[in-house]
Amino acid sequence: MKPPAFDYIAATSVDMAIAALAAAGSEAKIIAGGQSLMPMLNFRLIRPSVLVDINGIADLAYIEEAGSGIRVGALARHYQLETSAVIARHFPVLSCAMTHVAHLAIRNRGTIGGSLSHADPAAELPMLALLLDASLHIASASGTRTIAARDFFLDALTVDLASTDILTEIVLPKLPPRTGWGFAEVARRHGDFALVAVAATLTVSDDTIRQARIALTGVGPTPLRAAAAEALLCGHALEASLTGRAIDAVRAGIAPETDLHASSDYRRHLAGVLAGRALAAAWRRAQASKA
Ligand SMILES: Cc1cc2nc3c(=O)[nH]c(=O)nc-3n(C[C@H](O)[C@H](O)[C@H](O)COP(=O)(O)OP(=O)(O)OC[C@H]3O[C@@H](n4cnc5c(N)ncnc54)[C@H](O)[C@@H]3O)c2cc1C
Repeated sequence: MKPPAFDYIAATSVDMAIAALAAAGSEAKIIAGGQSLMPMLNFRLIRPSVLVDINGIADLAYIEEAGSGIRVGALARHYQLETSAVIARHFPVLSCAMTHVAHLAIRNRGTIGGSLSHADPAAELPMLALLLDASLHIASASGTRTIAARDFFLDALTVDLASTDILTEIVLPKLPPRTGWGFAEVARRHGDFALVAVAATLTVSDDTIRQARIALTGVGPTPLRAAAAEALLCGHALEASLTGRAIDAVRAGIAPETDLHASSDYRRHLAGVLAGRALAAAWRRAQASKA
């Protein structure tokens, strides 16, 4: 398949990309890893007249520790996240999730900025951005702004980005000590998009959950946090009846669609099962971190 014709601009700096986007307005699209954009072009789902290639912006592909957070450049590849020692130390849940994203060849090219901007309803990185309370830095000709991940994802494949915006950096605040994590996903085949995936963290002291986070993907147009389940876990130890109530709250808080791959009922059932597994793993890891 061949894409429709387009003009091509290879940006070598963020400023150059911003200028090219501003000049082309709504006619332009950024290309990063191209792993979602190229199929969309080839299927004629979009027809931008200008592609602004940001792969040549060498200083946009970093992962670095900075005080209370980790800064990730928008051009950091999926494989970089998967294998980063900094990510493994601070966000093992993210390292684990990355192994579920597509296949190695795709992870070698795909970028965090591309995945968050594309916002596939079954993608892992938007869910992780939500779980980890990420902040997203965005630049355009009119200046810069920062938006919380919880406000960024608006609908399926729709985020708070104008055609003249470039997502430049993602900041992940470090998790509190004694935080355990869990990740559980079901996909039809390894490397496929998730039917449903759940990521959870539990921060524990004195055998009591002080902070709970549960995020889901594949259960709606955008990734979700299971706020009601998170609230009922806080202040308690995780035991079977509490896990059961959290699972019920997760299921009550979602309204998945039926599609070609799974029914709404199946997805809701799966979300509960996976939430139970993710919570059990998070509790076990939090308890193990006591020593
Ligand atoms: C066979 C296959 C299987 C896959 N399976 C999975 C999976 O299981 N899980 C998963 O999460 N993903 C999966 N993907 C998608 C993959 O993760 C993509 O890499 C990702 O969705 C897009 O990242 P990209 O860098 O390739 O972006 P691109 O394809 O280059 O761009 C995607 C969109 O984001 C915009 N964009 C890119 N970078 C920026 C930026 N910095 N600022 C503003 N806008 C930007 C582009 O304009 C475009 O609209 C799969 C892809 C394929 C082909």
